[in-house]
Amino acid sequence: MSNNDSLKNKKPATLYIHAGAEPDPSTGAIMTPIYQTSTFVQEAPGVNKGFEYARSQNPTRFALESALAVIEHGKYGLAFSSGVAATDAVMKLLKPGDEVIAASDMYGGTYRLFSKIFEKFGIRFTYVDTTNVNNVEAAISKDSKLIWIETPTNPLMNITDIEAVASISKKYNLILCVDNTFASPHLQNPLVLGADIVMHSATKYLGGHSDVIQGALIMNDETLRDQLYFIQKSCGAVPGPMDCFLVLRGIKTLHVRMRAHCENGEKVAQFLRKHPAVSKVYWCGFEDHPNYTIAKKQMHGFGGMMSFTLKDDRAEAAKKVLTSTKIFSLAESLGGVESLINHPASMTHASIPREERLKNGLSDGLIRLSVGIEDADDLINDLAQALS
Ligand SMILES: *Cc1c(COP(=O)(O)O)cnc(C)c1O
Repeated sequence: MSNNDSLKNKKPATLYIHAGAEPDPSTGAIMTPIYQTSTFVQEAPGVNKGFEYARSQNPTRFALESALAVIEHGKYGLAFSSGVAATDAVMKLLKPGDEVIAASDMYGGTYRLFSKIFEKFGIRFTYVDTTNVNNVEAAISKDSKLIWIETPTNPLMNITDIEAVASISKKYNLILCVDNTFASPHLQNPLVLGADIVMHSATKYLGGHSDVIQGALIMNDETLRDQLYFIQKSCGAVPGPMDCFLVLRGIKTLHVRMRAHCENGEKVAQFLRKHPAVSKVYWCGFEDHPNYTIAKKQMHGFGGMMSFTLKDDRAEAAKKVLTSTKIFSLAESLGGVESLINHPASMTHASIPREERLKNGLSDGLIRLSVGIEDADDLINDLAQALS
């Protein structure tokens, strides 16, 4: 299905445009067709072209999955109907009594899936501050099976040392899964740093245009791939071919978009930091960010995600800003070409109990930005008028 072998040693820009792409064998179409079909005609029972039923095999999905593997420097990719469906599949590797060590600061929907769904099935979760890797090792018990981290985190931009956690995970023979959504494969490649599975909400930077919900897993180990493929087809959370096409198309411009997100992100972060109404800006590209050296070591850029608080820390003051921007749209999600502004406490992270949130430093007044790729001056002027 793909020309991935000829892409060895090619640079990211070339990978993104050519990974998984092979002229359609029946017509020569340069773009992978959207195989909008549920089944495939067989010559005789069991005699077919490798495609039987589209929950198990779909050529558009296979093209995307092969592209996902290439761009994350892994061997195998699997696409899911959403980011949380991809996370759900990873959790189904476990059985009752198994224990997961998870980051205390992570996407609210991941916390909800762990605490409201999988705890019911007897999986146990220990949440630790993974920015200090000693906490990870200290939490390991005889039942530990998997470590789940997210870096940078949503929304506080905390950084965890992937390589250091990977060495702990290997020492105790655990599976390390990294949610790489915020960085995207362009800025960070956890498999290269020793992780076993990379998870993406492809809804965000991979799709890049806020027009699709999708998830992805990438790995190197064939046994792990077989287990996760079995879960994918048995549980059925597969994306449709149209959505696979959209993410394939999004990936082609990942490098151009990420470069612009990084440039705009830096300008907006510097502007906010100097603004008299702002008390603190959370962005991992500041040299005084607590884990700047690790971010610099493991990332190839700092991205366009950031959060900030106002000197007036009442929720009403934040609401005023959230409803005053004209280019930044008030919405959940991130990673699209357009800039978004969000109130984690009441929107993306409302599913985390207030006590938990405050304990992790996620205050009621925190504002999160997904800086898009519009003109940087227009974005800064928009924030300036909203802050005034
Ligand atoms: C959005 C998001 C998810 C969940 O992905 P969906 O595609 O919305 O299901 C998981 N992790 C992070 C960091 C996210 O931003």
